[in-house]
Amino acid sequence: MKTQYDILIIGAGVIGTLIARELSRYDLNVVIVDKSNDAGNATSSANSAIIHSGYDPEPGSNKAKFNLAGNHMFPLLAKQLNVTFKQFGSLTLAFDDEQVATLTQLAERAKQNCVPVQILNRDEVLKMEPAINQTVKAALYAPTAGVINPFNFVIHAMENAIDNGVTFLRNHEVLKIEKNVDGYLITTNCGPLFANIVINAAGVHADVVAAMATKIDWKITPRKGEYYLLDHDTPHLTKHTLFPLPSSKGKGVLITPMPSGNYLIGPSSEFTNSEDLSTDAKTLQKVKDDAQQLVPSIPFTQTIRVFSGLRASSTRGDFIVEYSESDQHFINVAGIDSPGFAAAPAIARYVVEELVRPLIELNDKINFNPYVQKYLRLPKLDGETRNKLIKTNPEYGLMICNCEKISLGEIKDLFKRSCPPHSIKGIKRRVRAGFGRCQGAFCQPKIVLLLAEHYGLKPEEVLLDDEGSYIIDHMVKEKR
Ligand SMILES: Cc1cc2nc3c(=O)[nH]c(=O)nc-3n(C[C@H](O)[C@H](O)[C@H](O)COP(=O)(O)OP(=O)(O)OC[C@H]3O[C@@H](n4cnc5c(N)ncnc54)[C@H](O)[C@@H]3O)c2cc1C
Repeated sequence: MKTQYDILIIGAGVIGTLIARELSRYDLNVVIVDKSNDAGNATSSANSAIIHSGYDPEPGSNKAKFNLAGNHMFPLLAKQLNVTFKQFGSLTLAFDDEQVATLTQLAERAKQNCVPVQILNRDEVLKMEPAINQTVKAALYAPTAGVINPFNFVIHAMENAIDNGVTFLRNHEVLKIEKNVDGYLITTNCGPLFANIVINAAGVHADVVAAMATKIDWKITPRKGEYYLLDHDTPHLTKHTLFPLPSSKGKGVLITPMPSGNYLIGPSSEFTNSEDLSTDAKTLQKVKDDAQQLVPSIPFTQTIRVFSGLRASSTRGDFIVEYSESDQHFINVAGIDSPGFAAAPAIARYVVEELVRPLIELNDKINFNPYVQKYLRLPKLDGETRNKLIKTNPEYGLMICNCEKISLGEIKDLFKRSCPPHSIKGIKRRVRAGFGRCQGAFCQPKIVLLLAEHYGLKPEEVLLDDEGSYIIDHMVKEKR
């Protein structure tokens, strides 16, 4: 039977999932599709995860407006979605008189953007962060900047939307969009879908998707950022997020503690194509050199991973959040590069309240629940509760990931949730199994067997990440 959805969202990154969640407050038939096999598999899981304070964007721009509003929404949203959010505050550092003058201009810009900041002198900076390069002259302190767990945030937003009635279709790539008298016919690799309103949140592919429906006068060029991730056992380095002065290439190479205790260092900034997630020694060396100018003593021997992500930089130079030129029922949410994560909650609310509301009646859903179902995390329990739990279900006593202390019971719980994982990385992003120092060397074989057993697959059919990412060629001995 043909289902005519009220609204179809293309792309389950932070933008699409938060729009889906906002829409799930209302009595609507909403579907969100992604070509990937999970929510948050693209740019939304490979970024710095800084919830920027908002002092930097051009006053009056979409970036400035949505960044500030989004930053204000994060504390409550993180609580509702049960995600760790740490408001560490940020320091933007100046090392000579010219840079100090730029800091003053940035402080003025912060004032125009209504962001609280303070200029600190050398002694104040070094008192707050003794590891900073001793030649520092001053810093711009922004106390409202924070860092979030980006993986949990997107997946929990998706789960919360699903729990409130949204349909999520994975592995559905949108190939063609046609308008007819009934609305839109959206052709995917899995067949046709029908909707009255389409919201395009396709990240670095948003220009390709937009052009399927209408003529556009903007284009997206992906800009890659490469990173180092240091282990959570790294000795104390910094308490705040440290930035150099921003430039035309972006916010520069930052150093930040993560809510998990790891340190993140990067990103670089180079234009590339939409498939290029490679990392290379030359770029990483430059990231290292830039970071050491801020903090010379970074222990890069603690690196457990390098990775990269793609910013969806548009020719407009600002976020594009608007009706398509030829048709109000097609909404583009495109060019969402940095600070897109910080801005996402405010963008989602704007899309629903300012762009969707004029098109369709929005009736409150009386049983909308803003809270995501809690996860059971054993390390957070006291010894007595943990022991009781293990007695009731011994699977909570069987460690699968020793680095991050994740039990079999906790991983099996994931399969009972409304947005369960389908790949090794899907499990890693939800509970951090494989995120530690051994990077899955010990737990990955066990996780392969768990996924195979749960989905009735052969181990050779289990995916590391997206479609085609098989990691086992053939079994050389039987499972014991
Ligand atoms: C290096 C780097 C650092 C960053 N640092 C920060 C930061 O510190 N703070 C901050 O606020 N922001 C930061 N950002 C920006 C932030 O990560 C992005 O703004 C945000 O993740 C964009 O989310 P999205 O949902 O638009 O895109 P995505 O997460 O890429 O989601 C788009 C989805 O669309 C799907 N899709 C694409 N085409 C199709 C199709 N044809 N059919 C179906 N599905 C499709 C994709 O599979 C994908 O899942 C950074 C970005 C990068 C790359």
